[in-house]
Amino acid sequence: MNTDYLIIGQGLAGSLLAWELIKRNCNVIIIDNGLENASQVAAGLINPITGQRFVKSIGIDYLLPTAKNYYEELGSTFKHSFYKEKRMIRIFNRKSEIASIIKRLSQADYQRYLGKLDTLPNSLDNILSPLGYIEQINTGYLSTTELLDYLKKFFITNQCYKQANIAYQDIQIAPVIKWQNITPKRIIFCEGYHSINNPWFSWLPFQLVKGEILTISHNSTLPDKIFNFGNWVIPLNQRLSRIGATFDRENLNSIPTEIAKNSLIKSLNSLNHSLTKINIVHHQANIRPCTQDKHPFIGHHPIHPQISIFNGFGAKGSLQLPWYTQQFANALLNNTPIPSNINRYYATHFIT
Ligand SMILES: Cc1cc2nc3c(=O)[nH]c(=O)nc-3n(C[C@H](O)[C@H](O)[C@H](O)COP(=O)(O)OP(=O)(O)OC[C@H]3O[C@@H](n4cnc5c(N)ncnc54)[C@H](O)[C@@H]3O)c2cc1C
Repeated sequence: MNTDYLIIGQGLAGSLLAWELIKRNCNVIIIDNGLENASQVAAGLINPITGQRFVKSIGIDYLLPTAKNYYEELGSTFKHSFYKEKRMIRIFNRKSEIASIIKRLSQADYQRYLGKLDTLPNSLDNILSPLGYIEQINTGYLSTTELLDYLKKFFITNQCYKQANIAYQDIQIAPVIKWQNITPKRIIFCEGYHSINNPWFSWLPFQLVKGEILTISHNSTLPDKIFNFGNWVIPLNQRLSRIGATFDRENLNSIPTEIAKNSLIKSLNSLNHSLTKINIVHHQANIRPCTQDKHPFIGHHPIHPQISIFNGFGAKGSLQLPWYTQQFANALLNNTPIPSNINRYYATHFIT
């Protein structure tokens, strides 16, 4: 069977790329092993301003509008809302943060991301904020699991999805690329953190980070906002919320741990004392495909240019992927420059 693209991995990266290429009339086959992936565990948060100094994310002014339009378009295609825009209450943990935010409020290019500043202690119902808070706007989260479910059904209906675990030794490169009976013009690996074992791309400097998230049910009602207090809480409805996420660079596996669970529950105490009376509905762990230079890994193998990678979206897949998907599709179909091209590492990291 001939096809234009064989995409390996149906996480957010592989799903959006397959969707984009199909929209542009390409033949695509997407393969996934069906195991829980980082995209399904992720909170899907989009937060333009982060860190103690409230710095805008690189590229936010073009990444955010592209992401919002993209998810809205997917939403109207599938008649389902995937991106939930919700304000974020960023609770101050130290006085220096108030000084930083006052500076940001005076900067024109930060205005569209910042709302009300309140430095009165504990002025929100049910929320502890002894130093006050800033309301952030243009924030929200992507229901990634729902989006992946809809896209998987679409791929299955269009007979371009196959569940299988691809063993690298089963991929033939010469004289033509082939896997089982499929002969694609190009293979694109969208394997998330699994790429560290990929014989063609393991030389890329990934810096993987494990994360854990709890879904909790609770009796006290929270305001319908996202809360960011070092960790974050996203209320899914009045009685159900997600809390996360931990960062662990040592234990790179997808096993939920007691240590992470206890530290997340303990941190809830600093947001709302009654939130410690909770039930844990779900405890998930997975690995973020972060990279050493904090930029994605996109491009072609230096010796086998018909094998490509689309990966390295770290902790910001929901924000970054729509724009990078469109740009990579442009590069594949119209030969435009590849953004965040892995050729920046050919000379320093690739050994033949
Ligand atoms: C705890 C946690 C919290 C996060 N929070 C956020 C957040 O709030 N906001 C945000 O934007 N991002 C967040 N992220 C990051 C986000 O998950 C990633 O940026 C994004 O999901 C990566 O998508 P991906 O498709 O590259 O990888 P994945 O989602 O891991 O998908 C890769 C897929 O490839 C499949 N695969 C791999 N190898 C093979 C093979 N040989 N054969 C068949 N299938 C294969 C895997 O099974 C998997 O389904 C978080 C991640 C974690 C772990």
